[in-house]
Amino acid sequence: MADAPILGLDKDHREAAGRLLTSFFDDYERSIPDRPLVPVVDRDVLAGLLANPFPDKGLGVEGLFREINEKILPNSTTVAHPRFLAYVLGPPNGIAPYAEAIAATINQNCNFWQLSPAASVVERAVITWLGGLFGYDERSGGILTGGGSIATLNALTTALHARLPGFREQGLQNSGPQLVVYTSAEAHRCVDKAAALLGLGTDNVRHIPTDDHFRMRVDALEDAIRADRAAGREPFCVVATPGTVTSGSIDPIDAIADLCEREELWLHLDGAYGALFVLSERKREAFAACARADSIALDPHKLLFTPLEAGCLLVRDRSLLAKAYAFSSSYLTVEEDPLMLDYMDYGPQLSRSFKALKVWSALQAFGVDAFREAVDHTLDLAQYMADLIKADPGLELMTPVSLTAVCFRIKGASAADHTAVVAELIEEGTALLGPACLDGRRGMRACITNYRTTRDDIELIVDRLSEIARRRPATDTPETFL
Ligand SMILES: *Cc1c(COP(=O)(O)O)cnc(C)c1O
Repeated sequence: MADAPILGLDKDHREAAGRLLTSFFDDYERSIPDRPLVPVVDRDVLAGLLANPFPDKGLGVEGLFREINEKILPNSTTVAHPRFLAYVLGPPNGIAPYAEAIAATINQNCNFWQLSPAASVVERAVITWLGGLFGYDERSGGILTGGGSIATLNALTTALHARLPGFREQGLQNSGPQLVVYTSAEAHRCVDKAAALLGLGTDNVRHIPTDDHFRMRVDALEDAIRADRAAGREPFCVVATPGTVTSGSIDPIDAIADLCEREELWLHLDGAYGALFVLSERKREAFAACARADSIALDPHKLLFTPLEAGCLLVRDRSLLAKAYAFSSSYLTVEEDPLMLDYMDYGPQLSRSFKALKVWSALQAFGVDAFREAVDHTLDLAQYMADLIKADPGLELMTPVSLTAVCFRIKGASAADHTAVVAELIEEGTALLGPACLDGRRGMRACITNYRTTRDDIELIVDRLSEIARRRPATDTPETFL
């Protein structure tokens, strides 16, 4: 690389890297259906990566690609596989890898707008569009984050600053009444984690019981708030979930918003899984009340099929975000601009990558309709899977399917049986499913978050499950409760 600066690539090497990258993309795309869902991990190779320090003389472009192809790729899970249905983890959309490469090339620092004028507007465009999906108006704002958990942490931080005028200076050290956060028994653990990190303490998070469809019970929420007030504590925030991570159930947002209004509580929505189903015409109504929330966390790296990481926090009144996060510093001389925003004022990070480019690029390249279609496709498949399960004598749904999470059981099977079946399906390459636990009942869960999955894939999985259910002994073992 004689003509290049010391850490640069000359023309020939750029061409070689381009060719190698293109064939990597190509080979990978074509190999997806045949790749193992989870790799047979070569521990010696991985231990070698850890044990061998980096060479003094570099491997060069081709050597690097060889290392990646021989050591990294074979020991990686195939998230894009059409039957990779565990967790809420989708395959990246097709254009995003290119957008990522461009973001890395221009390396905009998305902290204040002079360092990244176009990036500032691109992020704002993404945030404004996302906010618009929920009926947020021009007072709203937000920021792209590393994920939904961080977005919820940032939301609770914002809520604290909005609640306690002296919070920036005193933190929680002025020993006022204990602040209490309410969420449901089905909430994601990021709510507990945020409370722990912020010094609220998990003892001050109430996990409100759910109804028979795993939605937060508003009457129980009201009782808990009343009990805390009577005990001298200070209720301050409710985190409701439009789309719980296990079963996809949607908390009654409208009724919870009424209660929050009466009780003067911040309403945050953990929409990391569910909120983007607002893109589907069929589900829009279910998300209509989201506009009433003070803040919404969502995850472009789930239903917008953005590669990790891309989460997002939306706040109905963006001045409250700035109140929590804007600190002026003499060495960052920032001029206010009506068009461009300084994202360092909307979150805890100073240096920030240009995450918005991959979100924006996919929406530009494919158009919004393609995303609506992809989301509808996953909804259709989940319904199809639910129908097949209901029709099978050996299988049963654990709860109705409201989004794309399908929780089901093999009739009469114990928790250990289900664990064994999940392992068997992985082993034989049929599917990667996850465990499900609802109300103490154990089963399995398929979450269809993959635009590549087809009806054939679903049939293949349910047929196999049906076979497994039939081979069970005729005498039903009693269901195991754990
Ligand atoms: C995925 C998920 C989260 C966590 O989001 P990350 O992006 O993984 O941090 C939180 N809540 C719900 C409901 C989720 O589905």
